[in-house]
Amino acid sequence: MSPIPKETLEAYLDDALSDAETAEVERSLRDSDPMRKQLQSLMRSRDRGEHSVGAIWRRHRLSCPSREQVGSYLLGAMEADAHDYVQFHVETVGCSACLANLADLESQRAEEPAQAKTRRKRYYDSTAGLLRPARNA
Ligand SMILES: [Zn+2]
Repeated sequence: MSPIPKETLEAYLDDALSDAETAEVERSLRDSDPMRKQLQSLMRSRDRGEHSVGAIWRRHRLSCPSREQVGSYLLGAMEADAHDYVQFHVETVGCSACLANLADLESQRAEEPAQAKTRRKRYYDSTAGLLRPARNA
């Protein structure tokens, strides 16, 4: 993939690109660590008012990973690059939509082991109930 010129990144931050161009920049950001670093430093250099990191990424909801991706991130089951991207998106940018997704998935995951334990116990009880009379006989 051809590198995205700095001017294009500037235009991206200014919301001055077409949808297709924006999608291309987003794709590069997902795939390239140097690109993300470049964008990050660009953001930092102009981090004020409507150009604050949060404001920009709120406008670019496009760049949000899917819920499945957030789930994979939570499980540590992502490619390193994709993991970095989600980490950047969630921790550096602090995207509230994805943080909410993450918290939701985390609480779901916390419930799962408890449910599994209940299921195992129920299975054990029914098995013990079946075996006991046999052993006492
Ligand atoms: Zn997001």
